[in-house]
Amino acid sequence: MSLIVQKFGGSSVADAESIKRVAKRIVDTRKAGNDVVVAVSAMGDTTDDLLDLAAAVAPIQAPRELDMLLSAGERISMALLALAIKSMGYEARSYTGSQAGMITDAVHGAARIVDVTPVRLREALDDGAIVIVAGFQGFNRDTRDITTLGRGGSDTTAVALAAALQADVCEIYTDVDGVFTSDPRVVAKARKLDRITSEEMLELAGSGAKVLHIRAVEYARRHGVTLHVRSSFTPDEGTIVYDPARLPEGETVEESVITGVAVDLSEAKITIVGVPDVPGVAANVFTTVAKSGANVDMIVQNVSAAATGLTDISFTLPKSEGQAALSALQREQEAIRFQSLQYDDQIGKLSVVGAAMRSATGVSAKFFEALFAAGINIEMITTSEIRISVVTHADSVNDAARAVHAAFGLDGDTDAVVHAGTGR
Ligand code: ASP
Ligand code: MG
Repeated sequence: MSLIVQKFGGSSVADAESIKRVAKRIVDTRKAGNDVVVAVSAMGDTTDDLLDLAAAVAPIQAPRELDMLLSAGERISMALLALAIKSMGYEARSYTGSQAGMITDAVHGAARIVDVTPVRLREALDDGAIVIVAGFQGFNRDTRDITTLGRGGSDTTAVALAAALQADVCEIYTDVDGVFTSDPRVVAKARKLDRITSEEMLELAGSGAKVLHIRAVEYARRHGVTLHVRSSFTPDEGTIVYDPARLPEGETVEESVITGVAVDLSEAKITIVGVPDVPGVAANVFTTVAKSGANVDMIVQNVSAAATGLTDISFTLPKSEGQAALSALQREQEAIRFQSLQYDDQIGKLSVVGAAMRSATGVSAKFFEALFAAGINIEMITTSEIRISVVTHADSVNDAARAVHAAFGLDGDTDAVVHAGTGR
C-alpha cells in the first residue's frame, strides 16, 4: 500500500461543485488501495478577499491577527472537503495546521516550517481515514500563535507532510497540465515536460515560473520528496519533479540542453551612477539596500572610466521593494559618494535553464545569436552553472522568449492548450 500526499490549490476547490469533484478524485485514489493525505488551499480567491476585508477595517495590519484571519480560509475548504468525502461513504478527518503538527518559526506571514509532528495524522491513517490538512498554516511553540507560510504556501505544506510521513509521492494538483518549457500564455508552442530535475525547477521558479512555490521545491529537494505536478481537471499524467541522484539504479533520462525558458516582469533596475572605484563601495551599497529589506537579484558593475576613476553599479530587485531601496540609498548619498540614482521599472528578465548546460558547449553562443537575430537589446547578463539570464526592455522580453524557445528546439508541433489557469 502506498501513501500519497495530494495538494489541491484554490482554483481546484473554488465552489461546491469543484469540491465534490476533488472529493471524488481523492476517493478514487483511496479505492485504488492507497493511504491518502490531502493538503488543501482556501477556496478560489478567499485569501485575497480576506486581505481586502482586513484592509477595509484597518489601515495598518497586525501580523498576528492577519494570520488568524487568513488561516480561516483553509479551515473552510478542509472541512467542506471532509464533509464531501464522508457523504460519499468514506471516513475523512480534517485538521488545522497546528493539529497536524506543522511547527514553524514565529515569523507571521512568512513562517518557515521547522518541524512536523504528524501524530494525529498517523492515528487517523491507522484508523483507515482519509486525512485532510489545512494548507499554508502552522503553529509556533514559543509564541503559541498561528502562523502562515506566505502566499502560495500550501504547496510547502504538502511537501512537508510528504517528507514527514515518508510518502511515496507528493501530487500537486493545479489548473495547468504540468510544468511547461515556458509559460504557454507567452510562448504558444510551449510543451509540457514529462520530467524535470528539482534543481532545474528551482532555477525556473526563481526566474519567474509560477507553477510551484519556490520554498516547496527547496523543501522537496532537501528532503528527497518526488513531486508530481498535474491537472485536477484531467486524469492525464503531469510533470515529475525528481532528484536525478535518487533515480533507481540503471535508469537514465534523456536530457535536452535547455529544459525551460522563463520570463519575469516583476523586477526593476536601479543604477547608482558615478561611484568611486575603490574597495568597500559595493559593500556599502548593498548593506544599505539590505537594510531597506530589499532582495537583490542581478548585479552588474561597469568598468570605471580611466579619466574619472568613477563607475556605475546596477542591480535588479522586485518592483515592490524599489521605492524603499531608493530612499535608503538616497539617505546614504554622502557616505557612498555616488553622483545620482536611476530607476527603471520597464525591464523584463529572460532566463534559460538546463542541467545539461554544465557539460554542453556553445549554449551561450546559441542563446545570444537567437537574441541578436530577433533584434533584442540586452541590458544585463548573469549566469549560474545551469542558467543564463538577461535583462531586456519589458516590451521585448516576450519576443525574446519565443525566439530563444525556438532556437533551442523546444517548440512543440501544436499550440499548447491554455485553460483559464493561473497555475495556482
Ligand atoms: N490560500 C493561500 C494563498 O492564496 C495559500 C495557497 O493558496 O497556497 O496564498
Ligand atoms: Mg490560494
